[in-house]
Amino acid sequence: MSIASKITALREELREHNHNYYVLDNPTISDYDFDIKLKELQKLEEEHPEFHDPSSPTLRVGGAVTKNFETIQHEHRMYSLDNSYSKEDLEDWEKRIQRILGDVAVEFTCELKYDGASISLTYEEGKLVRAVTRGDGFQGDNVTTNIKTIKSVPLQLKGSYPPKFDIRGEIILTLEGFAQMNKERLEAGEEAYMNPRNTASGSLKLQDSALVAQRPLECLLYSIVGNNLEINSQFEVLEMARSWGFKVPTVAKLCKTTDEVMQFVEYWDQKRHDLPYETDGVVIKVNNLRHQEELGYTAKAPRWAMAYKFKAEQVSTILNEITYQVGRTGAITPVANLEPVLLAGTTVKRASLHNADQIEKLDIREGDTVFVEKGGEIIPKIIAVDFAKRPATSVLTQYIQHCPECQTPLVRKEGEAQHFCPNDTGCPPQITGRIQHFISRKAMDIEGLGGETVELLFKEGLISNYADLYTLTKEEIVPLERMAEKSAENLVNGVLASKNIPFERVLFALGIRYVGETVAKKLAKAYKNIDALMTATEEELIAVDEIGTRIAESVVAFFANQKNLEIVERLKSYGLQFSLSEAQLENQSEKLKGQTFVVSGVFETVGRTELKKLIEDNGGKVASSISSKTSFLVAGANMGPSKKTKAENLGVPIISEHDFLSKLN
Ligand code: AMP
Ligand code: ZN
Repeated sequence: MSIASKITALREELREHNHNYYVLDNPTISDYDFDIKLKELQKLEEEHPEFHDPSSPTLRVGGAVTKNFETIQHEHRMYSLDNSYSKEDLEDWEKRIQRILGDVAVEFTCELKYDGASISLTYEEGKLVRAVTRGDGFQGDNVTTNIKTIKSVPLQLKGSYPPKFDIRGEIILTLEGFAQMNKERLEAGEEAYMNPRNTASGSLKLQDSALVAQRPLECLLYSIVGNNLEINSQFEVLEMARSWGFKVPTVAKLCKTTDEVMQFVEYWDQKRHDLPYETDGVVIKVNNLRHQEELGYTAKAPRWAMAYKFKAEQVSTILNEITYQVGRTGAITPVANLEPVLLAGTTVKRASLHNADQIEKLDIREGDTVFVEKGGEIIPKIIAVDFAKRPATSVLTQYIQHCPECQTPLVRKEGEAQHFCPNDTGCPPQITGRIQHFISRKAMDIEGLGGETVELLFKEGLISNYADLYTLTKEEIVPLERMAEKSAENLVNGVLASKNIPFERVLFALGIRYVGETVAKKLAKAYKNIDALMTATEEELIAVDEIGTRIAESVVAFFANQKNLEIVERLKSYGLQFSLSEAQLENQSEKLKGQTFVVSGVFETVGRTELKKLIEDNGGKVASSISSKTSFLVAGANMGPSKKTKAENLGVPIISEHDFLSKLN
């Protein structure tokens, strides 16, 4: 088989697997085999840049950075929807429609209203060419680079499709994906996101598309616009889009009567909590596109569509007690302990109170009757107090001044909402929390040791920091509750095995505030070993790509603390990995330190990704657009003319890949 047909075949196969996995939720290949094939394609593409294709499945991982999103005019305006809240509203709407259309049978397509961020995708000749946010409906932001990382958005369509059209949909986060993201953030000592909707919409405007690629975003489609499309109805729109490879939820229903519409609405009002994503209502659309045309638009919305908004589920119950939790980083979270009550299909006993300001703002007190609502959060929230039911004996809530676990006076930093317990080395939940983070799967991944055992070992005085794990002996562990010869042995072996965990994960495991997995990787790569990192100043840290003041301050503070230094020294002496391995260091240098490169065009001897990696591995920076800060533009074949002009205007030297490679050697 020729290289070209091999590449084409692999691309097609991977596209099909992506579709099965992300659109149909029905994978037919193991993740492992998929990765092997993807790597094979990546390799071929790097060796043969002449077959570059912007729609290749290898380009899903992101990497390009957008500093300013370009504003783009929508070819067809993106309208809003009119809202209705009752059966009567809906009946009125249907009467209005029937009046305009006259005596014809009108059918409706009912869909769920997905709660995320709207997006308009433009396809030409079956390829995704543009993705634009709704903006003000007339113009939005060009977020194509970010959208391309979302696996359920096809880059290349299947079947037969019109030569050019726009398709609209909603970018959402599933509840499960959202929960997982928050879990990881909390593990990194960051605050949890409030709800899936804002997080999804914020994701679209991230500058680094590689970060977008890591988020479990999905795109659900619901409408097609364009000229001469030869489609007759909304229901057909959905079916066609599905056949071209788009993710279109199958819960949509074609309804012949208003009664059927109402049944759909009532059914999903009950069942919406079983869905994998959030919905805040139903969208009802006149099915026949000729009818739609006849009905037209008001100043802001189509006359042929109507949103029916579900009422947010809300209950009232009694707030028995406010308690306070202390997290791994010392952050205090107030929790409302409620009289158990049924809400959206589950029994609710606790609700989040967020922070002191929130309690004060709503004047929440123990003994109050409160309204509880379930939003996107896992744990419901209190939205208001029923003041009419407040007992005469009620007293104003005094936020705690001392840590409930160690009695240390709490502090609250300027501009922060949360109170903190500053006793990080003596406060029990902070100590065990840090050790639990250290052993967690994405950190040291210590087999044979779980969160409860950590608490037990701490209570028994066997460990008081994570370095102590490495001196634990079997003899010490066996006598403990629920421990036996075998489990003690597993624990000790698990600890021993963790000495092979690579530097970047050790760095993550240390639990430095704001140093999550990704940041740890970046720091490990930039500094290569802990000694270099320990002596880095704030200014130096900020100079590292994507490290901001907040992270830099936190890293410096961590290593300024004598106790942390002692622990790190101990860990070093036990043989943990505190520098990048030989294999990781191979081919790395500082030759390009302080230089910024822009890479453009197609190259002969190295692939684009490889070229960028070469730059970074040798201490240089890769930027996506040319500015006065650019040191060199590495130009390949077919480089865009605008890049060239810009480089020339700014006096940025343009070099070939051969110039670049000889610079390195
Ligand atoms: P609103 O923002 O309340 O005016 O509602 C209009 C928005 O609902 C549209 O811009 C879409 O982004 C969104 N939407 C979600 N699901 C659908 C759907 N099935 N059909 C049409 N619009 C939808
Ligand atoms: Zn404390």
